Amino acid sequence: LTSKLPNVGTTIFTVMTALAAEKKAVNLGQGFPDFDCDPKLVQAVTQAMQSGLNQYPPMAGVPALRETIATKIQALYAYEYSPDTEITITAGATQAILTAILAVVHAGDEVIVLEPCYDSYVPNIELAGGIAVRVPLTPGTFRPDFARIAAAITPQTRAIIVNSPHNPSGTVWTAAEMQQLEALLKPTQTLLISDEVYEHMVFDGQQHQSASSFPGLAERAFVVSSFGKTFHVTGWKVGYVAAPAALSQEFRKVHQFNVFTVNTPVQHALADYMRDPAPYLGLSDFYQAKRDLFRAGLAQTRLKLLPCEGTYFQSVDISEVSALGEADFCKWLTTEVGVAAIPTSAFYGNGFDQHVVRFCFAKKTETLELALEKLQQL
Ligand code: PMP
Ligand code: GLN
Repeated sequence: LTSKLPNVGTTIFTVMTALAAEKKAVNLGQGFPDFDCDPKLVQAVTQAMQSGLNQYPPMAGVPALRETIATKIQALYAYEYSPDTEITITAGATQAILTAILAVVHAGDEVIVLEPCYDSYVPNIELAGGIAVRVPLTPGTFRPDFARIAAAITPQTRAIIVNSPHNPSGTVWTAAEMQQLEALLKPTQTLLISDEVYEHMVFDGQQHQSASSFPGLAERAFVVSSFGKTFHVTGWKVGYVAAPAALSQEFRKVHQFNVFTVNTPVQHALADYMRDPAPYLGLSDFYQAKRDLFRAGLAQTRLKLLPCEGTYFQSVDISEVSALGEADFCKWLTTEVGVAAIPTSAFYGNGFDQHVVRFCFAKKTETLELALEKLQQL
């Protein structure tokens, strides 16, 4: 058998979570909360199940949920999507991104990714028969380098994938950067896949800049989000994609033969729960408090803090602590110190190692304190 993905192994997240469990380490590796979601959300799912909402929903998703999402996007980003034709509920952001790529990328098309990037993008592009064109974010700051992006655009460029707030670096694109992207894409046919799964985790008063707020981007964008991140339910695997009707139509052609539909009772529960915007509007403050606690503790260690403007990830430079490469350092840290982290090199095609590792701070205070106690011994 010839592998369709010869360079792909088991994802770093699975590997590090397994090692953390084996070594009984504090798991700050894979990004997921170690606390539960709002009990109201569980009640809403139970209620939906008990009311018999247990069969296939409409292919594009439960209408009430699509309407709630459209209302949210209009309120926050001032763009009006039709819930009927422009919003589709997906099995998490992972399926949304794969489906968008399969829907628009033809064999031989180029798709630009900005490295470091989330590990599913490049294999997704390759599964579609496309060619991933890797453009580095600026080393050190992880900000977009528009000269390099411009140089990578060719007549074969079908799409670019942008992720802000950014995993792993925590960088949040400014309005000026989004406008620069808008100007750059304007004379081209390039589509945008905008991975906005951390849209509600942006700190220090900064605002998330959704592609849907920029007309020249919205008209060519698949905007992707994830309820797993926003409502502390990563295991539920529900997200959505918002895109203009022509793009959504192509998306749905693939979606219907990929998953067809997504979990019915969870969609009803999310529609109910999301009518109150307080939980997602309060998420940035909730995570900023965790970030601040974690950063204050890390400042007492020999790990060097990098900026964290959004997401639930904090990166650190390990150069002063160890000469090991990132991957070996993470294994050593998990095994010997008892704290799991993720090497940033896992987000690069060539394993580029800049002595930076990522911690997830979506954890209870006591978990963060326990991890800090261990890290302070470094
Ligand atoms: N994109 C990014 C940048 C992510 O960090 C994640 C979560 N790991 C995903 C997509 C996938 O989200 P989901 O769990 O909803 O599939
Ligand atoms: N998005 C999560 C992270 O970056 C993990 C998701 C996964 O395990 N695939 O840690």
